[in-house]
Amino acid sequence: MTAEDVRAAIDEFAARIDALAPGSGPPLTVSVTLSPAAAGALVEALRSYHDPRDHGTCDQCGSGRLDETFTCTACAQPNGLFGQLIRERLTRHQSG
Ligand SMILES: [Zn+2]
Repeated sequence: MTAEDVRAAIDEFAARIDALAPGSGPPLTVSVTLSPAAAGALVEALRSYHDPRDHGTCDQCGSGRLDETFTCTACAQPNGLFGQLIRERLTRHQSG
């Protein structure tokens, strides 16, 4: 476990959380000193964390994350079977 491994894990974690909470405020800079054992545990904790706001990856665009209404935060499409029903209903509504 190196400082670069910890840095990479924190960057990946931050990107994942920021996608769920865009514009949460100005970024914070922190400096910490960890033993190799604590650094390894921190990396594992960051990787295994599941945010309650994260409802998975969008089936439509493949990269966006789904919010609590299962709507993609990137392409704004509703996801899955529920999203398919909404899209069909909208299409029918728009075509008459
Ligand atoms: Zn999407």
